Amino acid sequence: MSTPVCARCPRALGVSCCEAEGEERLALLTPTDIVRIRDAVRRRAETFVEEEWVDEAEAAAYEARRPLYRGYFRKGPRRQTLRRVSGACVFLDRRTGCTLSPGIRPTACLLYPFDQLPDGSWSLQVSRFGSLPEAARARNGCLAVEEGERMDDVLDALGLDPEAVEALGERLWREVQAG
Ligand code: SF4
Ligand code: SF4
Repeated sequence: MSTPVCARCPRALGVSCCEAEGEERLALLTPTDIVRIRDAVRRRAETFVEEEWVDEAEAAAYEARRPLYRGYFRKGPRRQTLRRVSGACVFLDRRTGCTLSPGIRPTACLLYPFDQLPDGSWSLQVSRFGSLPEAARARNGCLAVEEGERMDDVLDALGLDPEAVEALGERLWREVQAG
């Protein structure tokens, strides 16, 4: 059996979507994510959540750009993201990958790199750079995207299909509305 693309990604590109440098942030969390993870790992939320205040204009622009997150900032321009430790997600084991089981993982992590556009169509959150060295230089590539020639290839590599992506999108939207 071939090694999953997400296990090969950090070595091929030098960095994965579970790592963040400098001012970069990791995945946005919904309140539902936080409760699900907190109950599963039996840790206080503060140990795996970071909070950041953004300005009102930035919050409005984010919601306009990403329809699944509409309403995320309705209680104030504050976002909650996965905590970073030494440049990586607190749940990342650099040798073995994510230490959360898929059933516990943040919905945004399960959906990445797929993203819904304001017109309801699906796209990718990352560019295709066309070569691994270019993607590695950019530091925000995705190996599944680099290796896939078509959207179906990217879906296959990540073990998803269009229905699964739709279902995850709906789940994310419901979690944001429940927040
Ligand atoms: S989703 Fe893409 S960027 Fe993230 S680990 Fe997998 S291949 Fe790499
Ligand atoms: S929760 Fe898991 S998949 Fe999400 S960023 Fe952290 S290590 Fe990566």
